[in-house]
This record gives sequence, structure tokens and C-alpha cells, in this order.
Amino acid sequence: MTMLCSCSIFTARSPSILVDKPLQVQAKMSRSVEKTDKQNPETKTNKMNTPTRDFDNASIAAAPREAELAPETKLNLAAIWQDGNPGLPSARNSFNENPEQNMDGLIRRNLLSNLQLVDFETSTLNEAPHQAAPESAAENSESTALEQRDESTRRLQEQFGVTISYGQEVAVSLPVGGAERTLLTLPADTPPAEIERRLAQLRENQIRHIESNFAVDILPAGSQVIIPQSETESSNYHTRAPGFDELAGLEAALMRSQPTSLAINADRIPVSFMQESGRGNTRASYLPEPMGGPAIHVWPASMRFPATQSDDTRNPENIDRQRGLIRGSLEEIITHEYGHRLADDLDILSQENSDIARELGFHRLPSPAANAGSGAERERWSLIGRDGYYYEQYADGWHRVDSQGTSIDENGQSTDPKGAFRVAPENLAEHVAVAPSSHYTTNPNEVFAEGVTYYRLNQSERASFLQRSPELYRVIQRYDQMELDRAYGTNPDGSSRYLRRPDGTIVENSESSRRLIAEFEGSATRP
Ligand SMILES: [Zn+2]
Repeated sequence: MTMLCSCSIFTARSPSILVDKPLQVQAKMSRSVEKTDKQNPETKTNKMNTPTRDFDNASIAAAPREAELAPETKLNLAAIWQDGNPGLPSARNSFNENPEQNMDGLIRRNLLSNLQLVDFETSTLNEAPHQAAPESAAENSESTALEQRDESTRRLQEQFGVTISYGQEVAVSLPVGGAERTLLTLPADTPPAEIERRLAQLRENQIRHIESNFAVDILPAGSQVIIPQSETESSNYHTRAPGFDELAGLEAALMRSQPTSLAINADRIPVSFMQESGRGNTRASYLPEPMGGPAIHVWPASMRFPATQSDDTRNPENIDRQRGLIRGSLEEIITHEYGHRLADDLDILSQENSDIARELGFHRLPSPAANAGSGAERERWSLIGRDGYYYEQYADGWHRVDSQGTSIDENGQSTDPKGAFRVAPENLAEHVAVAPSSHYTTNPNEVFAEGVTYYRLNQSERASFLQRSPELYRVIQRYDQMELDRAYGTNPDGSSRYLRRPDGTIVENSESSRRLIAEFEGSATRP
């Protein structure tokens, strides 16, 4: 099975659906830009000295500004993240004071406690290091010792996804939630082996913390992972230990993905950080239940992405142009995988139950005759047009076809593919019934997961999603609500007990929460 996109969902019936020419082009583009996205330790250090842009407040010009919304909207998830850390308890207090937060214990616990990185050690430890660095007499051996320290530092930075800086003390930090967070400070002469030991211990604590708050099991390093590649073949892989940046991205995505990420109705999900690269350019993948899942895999191609959306330093134009192709953060990557999890859990995208494909704006075209019956035929999907035709993706955009996949020219006549009427990607929304929410449009599965991603990721992405594709927004909202109703129940009159606010928090269905959502949606769609 070839996996070319930022994500793959493994499907039981058609293991090779993701192979397609236009996607090869996309993947190439994505790879080349990704190289510049990835940060080696040096550029990472530079980046940290630059203030990061606050994604939540600055990205989409037409998104409602905070001041235009009801005051409680300001209490967004990013704030909880920041304020959940030691020394910043204020959001926690204001959260409790908010009359709307009369929630049951489960939701309260999960909204309040998740985004604390436990055991952040912000002050210097009293404990002395186990060994002091030996003092060197000669200048030569001093410079050798420095070189060795630099070498160890590089290795530890790579291994743990952190920055280690030496001053009056050793400081270990990483950017999370738009700010540099100090993980650990130690005396300046702490030997690298001791820094490593402390970081390994801290990482274990952080993994336990995430596992205790969410329905995930992060597989230990060296575990074997078997992934089916088709109905008869499978591949063996192994896990590695995640960096702190990766744990922070995972935790942020789990926070966004409630209640999918909680074990209310469903099983715990194993999350594997993979040692070997996946096929193609896969950054993360979701293995559905019929194929032996649920399971989430995070591949090396996702390493060194910023942890959270607030750490994404791209400008708004690039974010918009690259949406779905280049990810802003691991938070975005894994939130997408939880979109697949939602579809799998609700069982809405299996072949036997594919009405939702039409709701998502898709029409399945007959597969090419040459592949028919081979069991591995490529699925051909098209988007339903507003003009009675269908639009199939090619390298240079979207081609008009009829319901059987025959190319149609601008006058409505059958033609060969070269003569088909073409629509550029930027004009697609004018021509199709349901515009996708991003450029990642391979099939209904991916469009569903993309919709869930932008619906849940943060307030400005949700506003932008509603502007780009109001039809898809309503479809995703309905399924998101279906899950909330299953998880938290409905009132005797059938109405929902809980709703998702624009900032992602899950609140009681009340007059004020309904008004908040209506005002948000009204101002997002106002021209
Ligand atoms: Zn996907």
C-alpha cells in the first residue's frame, strides 16, 4: 500500500486507494516544503529567540475578533494550556467561577486537568548532581571537554525534542502553546548522563500523565507494531520513545479531540511513535477497527513539527494556501487522526454505510476496467458539481466528468481527458455542492477527517472553515454532536445535553451557550 499524504487511513476493502497522480504531485510539494519546516537543533534555537505569533488571535482576517464575542469565549483551550502550568492558576479559577461550567465531573476533570505538563521543574533543584564534571588542567582538554559536551547536548536535544542551554545553570526547554516552557533546570556542571537520566524520568512521568487523562496507551520504545498492508500482507515496525515536543503535540490533540479521545463509549487506543519510516510520506496514520485497530501511528516524517498550532510561525497566507498539505503542528496532525477515529467509532464511512459520502459531496465513479475485480482496484471519487456534472481531481486541478467518469468539455460534450473542462483548485468551491475544507481531498474519509480537524482545532480555524464551506461545516457539526450525545446523553425531550463551543470546550446546552454559538457562526459568515 502506498501512502502519499500527510496521513493514511487503512481501509479494509481497498488497500491502494491513495495512489493517484495528483497526490504524488501534492506529496512532492509537501515533502519539499516540509524540509524547510523541519528544524535542526540550530535553527530551532534561533526560532526560540523570536516571539511566536499567536495563531488563535491573528490568523484569519474575517474571523470574529475576541472582543466581538461573549466574554466567556476568551477562555479558550490555549489559555487553559498556558494557565494550567505552574504559576498561572488564574484561568482555572475563572473557569470554575463561570456559571456555565456547571458540568458533570467527567467533563470538568478532563477540561481542567489535561494540559498541565506534570513535573515541570521551574526552579533549580536542591539535589546535587551525582557527579561533578572533572576539571581540566590544560586548555586542550578543556576544549575537548566542551566539544564532548556540545556533542552530548546535540544528541540529547535530538532525542528529547528540547533545547538545552548553558548559562549559570543548564536549562532544558521547548516551545509549547506559543511560549518557551522550561522543563528542567540543573546546576551548570551537571554531566550529560545525569541530564539524560532526569529527562528520561520526566518523560516517563509525562507519558503516565497523558495516559491517566485520556484513553490512550503510548507504546514503550522497542515494541513491535504489525500493520496490515493489504488483506494478505502486513509489515513489522518498531516504536521509539517520543520527544517532549511530540508528547506536547499529542496532548494538545487529545484535548481538542474530546470526547473521541476519552474512553466513554469506546476502547483505549494504542499510540505508537514509530522508529522506521512509513511508506511514502506518511506523517501519521489511523488503523480502523476492521483492520485490527483502533490504533494511531506517528511516523518519523512528523518529527520536529511545532508541538501546537500556537507554535506555527507561518504567515496566514501560507497557512491558507497550504491547508491540508502542510501541517502547522503535531496537534493538527493528530487531531486529523482523531477525525478518522470518530468516523470509525460512529461507523459512518464503511463501504456498507456510505450515504455519508454523498453528504460530504462525493460521488463514486466506476473503477477503470483494467483493475476491476482484482481486489485492489483504485477507487475513483469525484465531487458532485452544482451544474449536474462531477469533478475529478487531476494534477492540474479538477476535471469535469459525467456520472460514469467520462470527461466532459465546456460545452457539455464527451471528450478525452485532455479536452475536459477544468477548474483550478482555488475556484473549486464555486463549482461543487460541498466544498472540501482543505486541499486534502483524496476521498470521503479524508474530507471527513479534515472537516473534524478544522471544526475542533481552534476558534479561528472553525470560523474560517465555516466561511470556506458552510455545507461541510454543518455535516461535520451534526456528526460531532452525534458523538457528544452518545457520550453525554440527551435530555428527556431529545435535545442535546452538551454542545461544543467555538473554542472547543464542551459545555451544557443552555440558552447562553446556544447564543454564543449562534453569534459566533453569525459573525463568521457575515460578509
Ligand atoms: Zn487521514
